[in-house]
Amino acid sequence: MKILISADMEGITGVTMWDHVTPGHSEYARFRKLMTADVNAAVRGAFAAGAEEVVISDGHWNGSNILIEELDPRASLNSGSPSPMSMMQGIEQDIHGVFFIGYHAKQGSHPAVLDHTWSSTCVAGVWLNDSPAGEYTLNAALAGHNGAPVLMASGDQTACAQMAAQLGSLETAVVKQATGRFSASCLPPEASTALIAAAAERAVRRLADKTAPAPFVIKAPVTIAVDLASSDMADRAMLLPGVTREGVKLCFTAASMPEAYSTFRSLVTLSYPR
Ligand SMILES: [Zn+2]
Repeated sequence: MKILISADMEGITGVTMWDHVTPGHSEYARFRKLMTADVNAAVRGAFAAGAEEVVISDGHWNGSNILIEELDPRASLNSGSPSPMSMMQGIEQDIHGVFFIGYHAKQGSHPAVLDHTWSSTCVAGVWLNDSPAGEYTLNAALAGHNGAPVLMASGDQTACAQMAAQLGSLETAVVKQATGRFSASCLPPEASTALIAAAAERAVRRLADKTAPAPFVIKAPVTIAVDLASSDMADRAMLLPGVTREGVKLCFTAASMPEAYSTFRSLVTLSYPR
């Protein structure tokens, strides 16, 4: 059994503010350490349940947050950005199941710590084949295209509930109870990492017992609509061929989920203010 851990930062133990997850800010160093600890707990749980290989994709910001010198030596780390599959780098390498560690709720959720979808600056909403989508939806659909189900997730209570509602009966580790976008009641690392390790262990046991959720498969062709935050962002993103526009809402159709994922990333990258 080979597991891919896709790690983000907003849903990591103790994180409640952008300062905590922004490279260059003095608080960031503390939370890189906590992110590494949350990921290590998931690795520990996976191996305890019989996983043979664990690959980690560092998916926040520029993909260089996890402290490799503190990482469980049994895992390997995909680091840096841009990588071909972004937050899901490694998904094409015969992965049997995926963990989402440190994930957050989609843009517009409440109560939810640092809720957003891909870009808190540019993206006001995303729809995948007409259903509201978070980052977790896009990443799960890419996993599903590669035949891998999402087995577990960690984050605040709203993120975990959204993922369980959309992606199937996955295992969850709620490491904080959000009370607002920048506030939460947080478990200390000793308690949260125990929850993460236990959920990871249950998740991999279910994979072995064939009681894990089914892969999240999106029917092709794949249509993605993106509500951008302002019309100049839409002006820039419209440079991408094949995109249609209604106000600040852009829409495109792709032949497959990997093509849709790549086009979505290109669209958001183009939309950034410059
Ligand atoms: Zn992030």
